Parts: sequence; structure tokens; C-alpha cells
Amino acid sequence: MRSTTSELNWSGTVTYTAERVVRPSSIDEAAEVIAGTGRVHGLGTRHSFNDVADTAGVLLDLTGIPTDLVVDAEQRTVTLGAGTRYGDVAADIDRAGFALHNTGSLPHISVGGAIATGTHGSGTTLGSLSTAVRSLEVLGPDGTARTIDRTDPAFDGAVLHLGLLGIVTRVTLDVEPAYRMRQDVYGAIPWDTFTANVAEVHAAGYSVCAYTVFGDAISEVLVKSRVPDGADDVPVPDALVGAPRLPGTPGDDRRTARDGSVGPWWDRLPHFPFGSVPSHGSEVQSEHFVPLRHAAAALDALRGLADRIQPHLHVCELRTMAADGFWLSPTQGEDVLCIAFTWKKHPAEVAALLPDLEARLAAFDGRPHWGKMSSLDHAAIAGLYPRLADFRDLVARADPERTFASAFGERVLGT
Ligand SMILES: Cc1cc2nc3c(=O)[nH]c(=O)nc-3n(C[C@H](O)[C@H](O)[C@H](O)COP(=O)(O)OP(=O)(O)OC[C@H]3O[C@@H](n4cnc5c(N)ncnc54)[C@H](O)[C@@H]3O)c2cc1C
Repeated sequence: MRSTTSELNWSGTVTYTAERVVRPSSIDEAAEVIAGTGRVHGLGTRHSFNDVADTAGVLLDLTGIPTDLVVDAEQRTVTLGAGTRYGDVAADIDRAGFALHNTGSLPHISVGGAIATGTHGSGTTLGSLSTAVRSLEVLGPDGTARTIDRTDPAFDGAVLHLGLLGIVTRVTLDVEPAYRMRQDVYGAIPWDTFTANVAEVHAAGYSVCAYTVFGDAISEVLVKSRVPDGADDVPVPDALVGAPRLPGTPGDDRRTARDGSVGPWWDRLPHFPFGSVPSHGSEVQSEHFVPLRHAAAALDALRGLADRIQPHLHVCELRTMAADGFWLSPTQGEDVLCIAFTWKKHPAEVAALLPDLEARLAAFDGRPHWGKMSSLDHAAIAGLYPRLADFRDLVARADPERTFASAFGERVLGT
């Protein structure tokens, strides 16, 4: 079991304050660490841009525990180690004849970390990656294992847990029959045309992502279309609200294929291939979710800050996500527009801008991504999450001695 100190998150902008980072190689080893430690918190692949994963005690890095992928064709599930990265198993799941319903933009993140924060891809009819969870195996404060599944009354509070309920060791996910997809690129859409047609643009494919820097236009739109079972291809329109379909680019070591070629789900849903250095590589991110019905007004409100946003912005990605019932889900209760900022690596300047950006989104009940930068504290969060008090009660019952407590939980959730 490896043990180190002073480790960084993926972006290098958060230094964990934990006294140690321990990487067990089995579930038994993980249970031993918990039982022998007063404060402990789960750690995935460290892709969060804030201190959500940090603890004053021991950080338990779950990525060293074997994946041990089990495919149950009859139940249509896969079960795997929580520290597994999606990219480690996606092709194996496909070879077994199955697929996940969606992925995030990159396959490098761990399953346990993704579902703990409500990580999502895009698709107006698609829930976050957390919605695929059928059950979780969780080590409690004394290191004892228990299973939480959809029959548990606390299930909706436990799936999106921010590490505050225990250490998740194994996860069972829904799968569906494997499918194939194509990814096409459409050109620039004038700002007003896009905001008048946000829902229509995002309904143009199985999963749609639009990009802007808050100038006069949406610079391009990526449409990921699902090929119907038994078909070789799926027809796609030559234009999207007047924007032409572009030739796109074949897949390379930086991006999955965007040229309309048909390929497996796992090689079209993520933007970045598993072998790549994902995304810009030098960045921080913030993201907010607003009800889809407020999309145009929220985007116009943010565009009013364009002159302050643009100096720090790589690009802003606009996606959609279907409502779910998880207590801490940013999409709880209503379909949302996801407004994701990939900023230049200017964490201080972004932190200074966020209060004004978030004040603009407050009018639309904008909820922040749990794994990204935000200035909101629990007073603000309490007004956005009607089930927050229930989550706090769940934490108090599951972890009365506060073994899994974190500064993030105290500051942002009041747990
Ligand atoms: C380049 C980049 C692209 C991204 N793209 C997207 C995207 O497309 N969509 C999106 O929604 N988000 C995206 N994110 C954000 C990212 O998906 C989330 O921050 C996610 O939580 C990261 O997973 P992780 O495994 O790195 O978790 P970590 O950052 O390691 O941990 C996140 C949380 O999960 C908890 N946790 C992790 N594993 C366990 C476990 N086994 N048991 C208990 N608790 C655990 C931690 O305590 C912490 O609270 C992106 C991030 C980066 C860096």
C-alpha cells in the first residue's frame, strides 16, 4: 500500500491538505485503513477543480483496487471497482455486447468519482452518469461493507454523495445493448438564432454540445447521433438552424472522430480519446446548471459579462441533461442547460469573477457543478436544493462520528 503527502489534483490548482494519501490494492486493505483512522475520504482520479475530495485526515485513493469487471447479461448490468476509469472498461463492455447510456467529455475519470459528483455528458433525454447506478458497495466508518440499491429508501440521497457517506468500493451500473454512433460538426450560429432555438438545437441528436466565447455567435455545434439497431448509418441534416454541416475531422490522438464516420459508442460519446492528454491540459473549470426553460435568458445574462469573461476563457460548452430525483443532483426536478466554462489556468482571476457570474445566474436558480470552481456557500446552496436537509440527516445517521467529513462539506453543504 503506497502512502504519500502533499499531492495535487489533475489541474495542479488544488494541493490536498490531507495528512496522507494512501492507495490500497484491495478492499480489505481499504477497510483496514478506515477502521484505523479517525478521518478519511475517498479519492478517484483527482479531476475535480476544488477541494471536494480533500480531508484533514487520510485520502483513500481507490484507483489501485482491481477493476474485476463482471458483466451480467441477464440483469443488464456491469459491476466494477469504483476507482476504475471509464476508458479502462468501455471497449470490454462493448465487446460483451453492451453500452453505457452516456459518458462525460473524457474517459479518464473514475466511475466512483463521476457518480459521486453527478458528472454528465449531454442529451436532453439522458440523465447524468449517476443515473446509471443500480447499486453501490460502501465501507462505513468502522470499515464494514454494506450494499445500497434502488430498493433502499435512502438510495436517492446516497448515489450523489460527494464522499460524505463512506468509501464506495464497487459500483453496479445499468447497461443496454451496444450501439454505434456518428459525430458531426455544424458551423457558426448567430447568438440570437441560437438562444431562440436552444431546445431545438439540443434535440438535433442523441447528444449535442455547442461552443461559444460569448461573442456574436455559437462557434460550432457537435451532434452525436445514434445509429438505429440493424442499420448501417443514420441520416443527419445538412444544416442546423441555418448552420451548415462541416466536413469535420477524422479521429486522432487528440479528438474522437467528428467526420460523420460510424463507430462504437465509446469512441464517439467522449470528445477525447482515452490515449490522449485530455482537453486543454492547462485549465480550470466552472459549470452551472439552469432550468432549460431559462436557457436563453441565462445565456444573455452571462453575455453581459463578456468583456470580463473573455480574457480568461478557453471556451464555454453548452450541453443539456434530463431531470432526475437524486437529492444532491444539479438536475434534480427539472431538465437543465449545462453551462461549462473551460478557463485558462487563471484560478485567482476566475475565483474573483465567479461571485458576479453566479449572481447573474442566481435569478435562474443556477446550481454549481460539485466538482468545479464556485463561490457558493451553504447559505446559497440551501435555497437551491429542497432535499439538502434530508441529505444532512442521512450523513448524520450514516457517519455519526464524522469520519468522512470534509471542509468542503461543511462550507458548501453545512454537513
Ligand atoms: C478535463 C476535465 C474534463 C471534465 N469533463 C467533465 C464532463 O464532461 N462532465 C462533467 O460533469 N464533469 C466533467 N469534469 C469534472 C469531473 O468529471 C468531476 O470532477 C468528477 O468528480 C471527477 O472524478 P474523479 O474520479 O476525478 O473524482 P475526484 O475528483 O477524485 O473526487 C470527486 C469526489 O468523489 C469522491 N469520491 C471519488 N471516489 C470515491 C470513492 N470510491 N468513494 C467515495 N468517494 C469517492 C471524492 O471524495 C470527491 O468528493 C471534467 C474534469 C476535467 C479535469
